[in-house]
Amino acid sequence: MILKIDTSKREEFKDITNEIAEIVKNSAIDKGIVNIFVQHTTAGITINENADPDVVRDMLSTFDKIVPFEDNYKHYEGNSHAHIKASMLGSSVSIPIEDGKMILGTWQGIYFCEFDGPRNRKVVVSIIESK
Ligand code: ZN
Repeated sequence: MILKIDTSKREEFKDITNEIAEIVKNSAIDKGIVNIFVQHTTAGITINENADPDVVRDMLSTFDKIVPFEDNYKHYEGNSHAHIKASMLGSSVSIPIEDGKMILGTWQGIYFCEFDGPRNRKVVVSIIESK
C-alpha cells in the first residue's frame, strides 16, 4: 500500500513509525517482514533513535557538512546535495514482524528523510508473510 507523507521543510526527518505500525497491525500478519520503499531520488529512509530529537538534528547538520548545499555541482536542477544525501541513506528499510508487531529496538524509529522539500511524498509499504 501507499503511505502519503507531506513534508514541511527543505530538510527534515519525519518519524513514520506509528503509521507503519498501524499498517502492520491492520494487515493481521503475525510473522513476516515489512518493507518500506521510497519512490523518490531526493529523499531517503533510515532507522535511528527516536528518543532524543537532538540525534536527528545532529545527523542533519553532519550531512550538511559532508554534502554542502553548494559545491560546484553540475546537475541543472540545483539539488545535487539532496540526490547525494538520499543515496547515502538508501531507498528502503525492512523490519521483521513477530507476533503481529515490528520488532524494532527500544530506541529505534523509522524516519522518512526529506532533503529537497517541502513536497508531497509517498512510500510503498509491502508486507511479506513468512512461516
Ligand atoms: Zn535533481
